[in-house]
Amino acid sequence: MTAVTNKREIPVSRPALIGNERNYVLECLDSTWISSTGRFIGLFEERFAEYLGVKHAMSCCNGTAALHLAMLALGIGPGDEVIVPTVTFVATANAVRYTGATPVFADCELNTWNISADRVEQLITSRTKAVVPVPLYGHPCDMDPIMRIAGKRGIAVVEDAAEALGARYRGRLCGSIAHISTFSLYGNKTITTGEGGMVVTNDDGLAARVRILKGQGMDPQRRYWFPVIGYNYRMTNIEAAIGLAQIEHIERFVARRRQIASWYGEHLAGIPGVTLPVEKAYAVHSYWMYSIFVEQSFGMTRDDTMTLLAHHGVETRPVFYPMHSMPVYQRPGSQGLSVAEHTASQGINLPMYYGLEQQDVIYISNILRNK
Ligand SMILES: *Cc1c(COP(=O)(O)O)cnc(C)c1O
Repeated sequence: MTAVTNKREIPVSRPALIGNERNYVLECLDSTWISSTGRFIGLFEERFAEYLGVKHAMSCCNGTAALHLAMLALGIGPGDEVIVPTVTFVATANAVRYTGATPVFADCELNTWNISADRVEQLITSRTKAVVPVPLYGHPCDMDPIMRIAGKRGIAVVEDAAEALGARYRGRLCGSIAHISTFSLYGNKTITTGEGGMVVTNDDGLAARVRILKGQGMDPQRRYWFPVIGYNYRMTNIEAAIGLAQIEHIERFVARRRQIASWYGEHLAGIPGVTLPVEKAYAVHSYWMYSIFVEQSFGMTRDDTMTLLAHHGVETRPVFYPMHSMPVYQRPGSQGLSVAEHTASQGINLPMYYGLEQQDVIYISNILRNK
């Protein structure tokens, strides 16, 4: 192990509060509009919809609630099946389960770690109501074939774009392509509200249902009349104030992540046994995370590599464990999703955030090169 001088402390992620966050939050405090009514909620939703080029953006309390609302708006419930990737954050599967439906896990592609239309098609049954492509770590899914197959088989497409704000598929922003899509605005996401989520769609009917469901199921024409069982999934004005300040800088945030990714590409190139992320011809990657594979030829296991980096003050994350390997989601027939198992056991997410500097990237790359 090479001695590394000037040890740094580099987190895997950190929010960048570089704009109007403080001003807008102070306005909430000074005006006392701190709960889920107030001008920032509408402004943030409008700005979000405008950025994505969609008709409706509905804020909510987190990305998991956003997924749950999307499922409920589509009428998904007990007896239904929803196809989700096995390599994803657990919320994708949990939101399906909350409705009483069954998540059916799809294996991923080797390079992008995303689901493909072929794999989805093999899993469709008479009970399938929806498929949830997840642009993992910011790399878009190949959406056209997924939309085509879903259209042919009469199932809905819900994009869980939590990790892909600012990513593009054939020029179109992730979250603007599926029937309904969701975002997370958690502290480590590309933009944040602390905790928060957004549901987006061009469908007026779905949008109306999401609005009713997130506000206790109240009839929009009649206060305190509740025709359906709803939820309290609202975002606060303070969260929306932070969100508005954040989305004002979305182009900068995405450009900076792409810049950092290009530094990693340059400084990690040629290390034997380290595979770098791909960017398909149809994709503009938003690099929510910068993810590498450590192959056997690297000479160190994934976990030992993470320990080495931690020893030098560099925080990392393992790629998500496949959902079908979780005790709560194990069931017959979901074994043998081999690409996912391989990916998950060798993948590492390296630090990626707005404030990361080129010297940090060089520092991290040198630890791996000189191990
Ligand atoms: C972050 C994330 C979510 C959930 O977001 P929360 O805001 O933490 O509830 C859902 N899906 C994916 C893929 C995520 O990365």
